[in-house]
Amino acid sequence: MSTFSPLANPTSRHERLLVIYTGGTIGMQQATSGLAPGGNFAQRMAAALGQLPVDQQQSLPAYDVISYTSLIDSSAATPLNWQQLARDIATRLTDYRGFVVIHGTDTLSWTASSLAYQLQGLDRPVVLTGAMLPLEAPGSDGLDNLHGALRFAAQTGLQEVTIYFANRLMRGVRSIKQHSEALAAFATPGYPLLGERVGNDFVYYPSQGLGIQQRGAPRFELPDYQGIYQGQVVRIALWPGMAAWQLAAWLGDSRVKGAVLQLWGAGNLPDDPALLHVLAEASGEGKLLAAISLCPEGSIHMGAYAAGQGLADTGVLSGDAMTPEAAYTKLVHLLAQPAGLDIQRQRFLTALVGER
Ligand code: ASP
Repeated sequence: MSTFSPLANPTSRHERLLVIYTGGTIGMQQATSGLAPGGNFAQRMAAALGQLPVDQQQSLPAYDVISYTSLIDSSAATPLNWQQLARDIATRLTDYRGFVVIHGTDTLSWTASSLAYQLQGLDRPVVLTGAMLPLEAPGSDGLDNLHGALRFAAQTGLQEVTIYFANRLMRGVRSIKQHSEALAAFATPGYPLLGERVGNDFVYYPSQGLGIQQRGAPRFELPDYQGIYQGQVVRIALWPGMAAWQLAAWLGDSRVKGAVLQLWGAGNLPDDPALLHVLAEASGEGKLLAAISLCPEGSIHMGAYAAGQGLADTGVLSGDAMTPEAAYTKLVHLLAQPAGLDIQRQRFLTALVGER
């Protein structure tokens, strides 16, 4: 890991931001095998910000940059990367007024969701951003995204993990990547924006923020964390004709301890008692099963249709309107907690960081 402070600026750390560069398109450069994460990011970032109009440069907060030694395309990220990032922020939390994480867009909303749980109770901003085009490419969104992320990460009222992308500040644990090409690649289908760029102002909407909503909510304490084991949680999306043996192939494996089930509409699944039996059996073995909808918008309402009637009896938990990212990472982190099944189930159903 290398550290870089762009300005020979005497500002104390407590007035500065920490920028953590993990990789992603924003920092990529052409290699023989195609685009790959490039180094020297701190200098390249400073050069890009130097292209802003002078008044906007003067409004930028001071910052330090650390670059990971192993830069990745975020499609390769795993729960171990989430854990590393949370630790790197947690150990420096009180040294900096806010944090910006530079990350690839493919799994950015997964990392943001995981960080939200791991840093529950956060009292300052953590803003994740990236870009659809490399920083130096013509028409890149990289500079605008960096600029906005820095400005929002310096706002004291903001006290949660967020994503800044294409002029919009979103709750990380409510966000999804919704487009593979458009610059406005992220959306929060079930929650309003936390802030926006309006002209040259970066406006935070405190009434939507966690700072006001979740004081005193139950929190995960970081030191309590066991390792985040990989492979314990699976994600299963229904398809027409899914058979019980196919579901059992996932849930019957003793290595699987939890699953996010993406069901039709408001929580329906095929009228097949054998499917319900597989779910009830897995749940009875103490596996944490959570249902969310295959629809990007709207909520689970178990039992609203006859086709979903038996679901609640199987012990499957309602994921309400949670995103796949929010539900999946919540199960990963709950399973890493030294807590019994009843507490894990109850915590899943409780809004911990504005995820439901
Ligand atoms: N594959 C890239 C990544 O997620 C895509 C991007 O950054 O936009 O790292």
